[in-house]
Amino acid sequence: MEPINSIYFFIMLLACSVAILLYRYTITLRRFLKSFIKISKKVSNKEFHSRLDNSIKGELGELSRNFNFMMETMENTIEEVEYKHLQLTSVLKSISHGILVIDIDGNIILINDEARKMIKSKCIGKEEGKNIKQVIHVEKILNGIEKYIGSKENNCEKLKLEDETVYKLKIDPVYLQNSKNAIIGSIINIENITEIVKLENMRRDFVANVSHELKTPLTSINGFVETLIINEDLPSDKRNRFLAIIQKESDRLKRLIEDILLLSSIESKNNLVTENVLLYNIFKEVYEMISYIASSKHIKIYYNFEDENVAIQAYGDYIKQLFLNLIDNAIKYTPEGGTVIINQFTRNNEITIEVIDNGVGIPKEDQDKIFQRFYRVDKARSRSVGGTGLGLAITKHIVNSLQGNISVESKLGEGSKFIVTIPTKIS
Ligand code: ADP
Repeated sequence: MEPINSIYFFIMLLACSVAILLYRYTITLRRFLKSFIKISKKVSNKEFHSRLDNSIKGELGELSRNFNFMMETMENTIEEVEYKHLQLTSVLKSISHGILVIDIDGNIILINDEARKMIKSKCIGKEEGKNIKQVIHVEKILNGIEKYIGSKENNCEKLKLEDETVYKLKIDPVYLQNSKNAIIGSIINIENITEIVKLENMRRDFVANVSHELKTPLTSINGFVETLIINEDLPSDKRNRFLAIIQKESDRLKRLIEDILLLSSIESKNNLVTENVLLYNIFKEVYEMISYIASSKHIKIYYNFEDENVAIQAYGDYIKQLFLNLIDNAIKYTPEGGTVIINQFTRNNEITIEVIDNGVGIPKEDQDKIFQRFYRVDKARSRSVGGTGLGLAITKHIVNSLQGNISVESKLGEGSKFIVTIPTKIS
């Protein structure tokens, strides 16, 4: 072979080898690009666990390994962020107050379900990013928040809505990390304090009522004692009359204090030792105690117990108090010669006790209120019969502690019927 020919042959061989190598490389590169496109599509679909084949050799293999490492880091970071977000939303969800985080322009950054309900949001779940003006549909809350946006102080306000709901609105500034000047928004805490306010008012009224109720007999006792001291030579009939008044008023004081103590003990003792109480036996004890008062007013008492063995799990003294208060009232508010009837029967797993009289009756508008402490339809009449205005409040508390219910049906001038229902099984 001539040398020229051998050179050509060599060049041809070289060119062929290069072409083959290039062809193979192009095929590998295409295959790599195809799988890269496939994986990148998966990643954009949030399938962060997708990986490239890292068994490839050379630069493409290194690129695959670097890409996989980057994906792994990203997957871990995303998992961490998602976990933190889940933690935050779970914490926000479990807070019983309404929580709202806004930026300096009033755009919502974070909100929990309780706040959504309180502000009457109409775009549940889509509040974030929207302005409070678009989302808050309770004017008083909106005004309360707008007033303090950007304020450096911690602010607190009580809001009373038209439906009597009372909210405590707390607005605290959110500072840029480490800076005490740059405010980036506010965190708002809305607490429903309707029940607390109601209880506070009730306690205030109760203290005022108790003071007033105690003051009246005390003033009277004080006055008569002073008169007796100043006028040593008062005629004995006058003296005895004054002493009788002092005795009556001090009895009244004693009754009042006993009733107040009883009421507070019923309210505070939730875990009393209960026993199986036979209703009929307790009623008979009360009947013995009270029948002489009834006969002194010529009032006839009839009773009808469907089952004399019916029993409930309760604190015996409270059941006695229940019968005593209702039957005593029936006698007190029934004129001479009247009738009082006590019925007991069981229907649909409920024990019913009825105390019926044909006395003065209770006007319709007072029938809801008589179970309130110190409420009396006719103050003078109640006082004259020795009432404290606490009997029915005590009775209602007792019935509630037995998971029962008490109601009244009455017609003015015709009589009243008090109905107590107690479940046969108290949980
Ligand atoms: P009081 O000590 O004044 O009797 P209660 O709480 O027992 O207080 O009763 C509240 C009010 O309800 C009474 O003052 C009375 O006006 C009315 N009342 C209660 N029971 C009867 C009844 N059987 N008949 C008519 N009025 C009643």
